[in-house]
Amino acid sequence: MLITNHVLSGALVGAVSPGPASAFALGVVSHAVLDSVPHWGDESIFLPVAVVDGLVGLATLGAVARAAGPEPRARVVAGMLGACLPDADKPSNLFFGRSPFPSAVDLWHQQIQRESPRRLPQEFVVALAGALLVRRALSSGVSRRG
Ligand SMILES: [Zn+2]
Repeated sequence: MLITNHVLSGALVGAVSPGPASAFALGVVSHAVLDSVPHWGDESIFLPVAVVDGLVGLATLGAVARAAGPEPRARVVAGMLGACLPDADKPSNLFFGRSPFPSAVDLWHQQIQRESPRRLPQEFVVALAGALLVRRALSSGVSRRG
């Protein structure tokens, strides 16, 4: 799953969570759920796509954090960070040659993947739907508490 889609799902989870800690934990859970749904994956072009996706995901995280407004911002950012955390093994493996997680976690993370190189268009549809849902959640007040 593209990291940008994990960012957007984490933002949604954060918008409806009661606090930053639960938002972070539910963000991690959302990552596992999305990775277990059939999605794009292609080792032959993974790195070029991952670089672009990483930059788009980072820009998306910044834009959503800014758009969230002061009240839900901590929850939304915590949700996005939790949703991205499990994929910290990718840059860590690339730059440091090892994952930051125990091998059992890495094995589990690999085993839940349901990837196909034919599903890149699906990732873009999920990203568009996610962006629209995040915009709606942040503008409708579903993310406001109190
Ligand atoms: Zn993952």
